[in-house]
Amino acid sequence: MTKDFRIGRILGIEISIDYTWFIIFVIIASGLASGWFAKYLPDVSPGVRWLIAGLTSILFFASVLLHELSHSVVAIRSGLKVSGITLFLFGGVSKLTEEPKSASVELKMAVAGPLMSLVLSAVFLALSVVLPGGVFRVVFRYLGIVNAFLAAFNLLPGFPLDGGRVLRAGLWKWSSNLSEATRIASSFGQGLGILLIVFGVLGYFMGGQFGSLWMAFIGWFLTQAAQSSYQQMILRQALTGVPVSHVMTQQVDAVPAEMPLDQVVHDYIMARNHPAFPVIADGPFDSAQGKHVVGLLCITDVRGVPREEWHGVSAGQAASALSERNTVPPTTDAWEALVRMSQENCGRLLVVENGLLRGIISRTDIMRLMRSRLQLGV
Ligand SMILES: [Zn+2]
Repeated sequence: MTKDFRIGRILGIEISIDYTWFIIFVIIASGLASGWFAKYLPDVSPGVRWLIAGLTSILFFASVLLHELSHSVVAIRSGLKVSGITLFLFGGVSKLTEEPKSASVELKMAVAGPLMSLVLSAVFLALSVVLPGGVFRVVFRYLGIVNAFLAAFNLLPGFPLDGGRVLRAGLWKWSSNLSEATRIASSFGQGLGILLIVFGVLGYFMGGQFGSLWMAFIGWFLTQAAQSSYQQMILRQALTGVPVSHVMTQQVDAVPAEMPLDQVVHDYIMARNHPAFPVIADGPFDSAQGKHVVGLLCITDVRGVPREEWHGVSAGQAASALSERNTVPPTTDAWEALVRMSQENCGRLLVVENGLLRGIISRTDIMRLMRSRLQLGV
């Protein structure tokens, strides 16, 4: 997530670019310049051809973005939260923080993207026919074909591709069992991924070009994505409805606010091997009532202070102030806490009620809960 470049907002949705996107951008632009445009625009000079290839690639990724925006807009209209859209090596992805609430919402969301790609394909192909001039015709014909391909590929029935989501929606509607539907749809996704790998590798060795190898890469990515989206759903189901107060660690080592950082590093961070500590206000406190907490001190906060200044800076000064980013009320869902932790770089959240510290929650606490549930078979 930290490797994303934010490029702006469209319809309130944050759009970002992962650094891997630059790789695919260069591959597509150079492929166009030396392939499609070399073939159909032989009279154009190489410099101009590269310029056209670059602009066409930008239009291609604008099409991918419109595909993702369609998914996101339908999701938001159905009351779901979308945290943003990212363009990356294998195309685009809409980041949903929640699952669709019903099979019909899932179906609408899933078909919105390929539908947009089909509309774009029709528009570009029409433009390629009506516009005068060789260059426009060649550019729009390419964009028309590639958008049709995008729609067709995404409709393949392997979860988490759009077609796999359609399949899941159907199975979900039919069986009323979301986890079973997800299990079947993602096994289709894994099967499809393996097929793509096999065909891609075979094609490459039978004299295929880079495209075959790329197909194998996409197959590998799909296999991984199918597996992890199923695991994530299992985790989500197990953790939804479990309040963090049931999972948190109650015996918390807290650092006094006035303690200098060099002592904190020596007595707490090195000695107890935790990556984060709550910082408590000085003065007496009643342990039954809880501790008055003023901040959360993460290793990253300590690293932000130069080592030679550690003796002169207190834990209270270096700590991050309490905010929604590092605290949760005890009633919060364990799943929501896990999502929040993965978005913040500290990996810990303080469980705070009316300004009093009730406990601390980490991924380890949540994994411990999952392990005991698995061992008990619940
Ligand atoms: Zn899609």
